[in-house]
Amino acid sequence: MEPDPAAVAALDRFRALLRLPTVSRADEALTDWAPFEAFRAEVERLYPATHRTLEREIIAGHSLLYRWPGSSSAAPTVLMAHIDVVPVVDAEWTHPPFGAQIVGEGDDAAVHARGAIDDKGSLVAILEAIEQLAGEGFTPVHDVYLAFGHNEETAGNGARAIVAELQARGVRPALVLDEGGAVVDGAVPGVAAPTAMIGLAERGVMTVQLTA
Ligand SMILES: [Zn+2]
Repeated sequence: MEPDPAAVAALDRFRALLRLPTVSRADEALTDWAPFEAFRAEVERLYPATHRTLEREIIAGHSLLYRWPGSSSAAPTVLMAHIDVVPVVDAEWTHPPFGAQIVGEGDDAAVHARGAIDDKGSLVAILEAIEQLAGEGFTPVHDVYLAFGHNEETAGNGARAIVAELQARGVRPALVLDEGGAVVDGAVPGVAAPTAMIGLAERGVMTVQLTA
């Protein structure tokens, strides 16, 4: 069976974004921000209907907040994902971490890249859905926000700044959906079946000094 051309095009967009090394570092003075700027430009290029239809703001330097105006003032939905990935130890990778190579054939084919699951997979799934609907002229019943943080893996202040911005505007979402977890084996002791975590909050940062 020939692959669906629309699916192949979506996969190509995903791989283009996986190739950008948007690595966030605990010391942000060491973060190379050029890939984050390239990522923003690439998202604009790859998702034109989204950028014609939704309002976009840049928050805290590199986080992205989109608003898709709805036809009513009902409480909005917020869909979250993060742009950054954790640093790479090259020796641990059998395929280049930013190569986005497809390994395997047919149903076993998989994309290998840092961020494929965590969390560009979520980000691209959201954008693909919005792009298709926006291209069809669809208008949601209520506002839909897309909140894409730039440093979820480290400082987390991108997501916090987005929250502050929404609070200041009096936005009270009906639903906030963030990345959650993958379906994995052996994550929960005593459970033999594959499990998927449902995340209810974004990770924060706490520093604790223990004295013994
Ligand atoms: Zn993540």
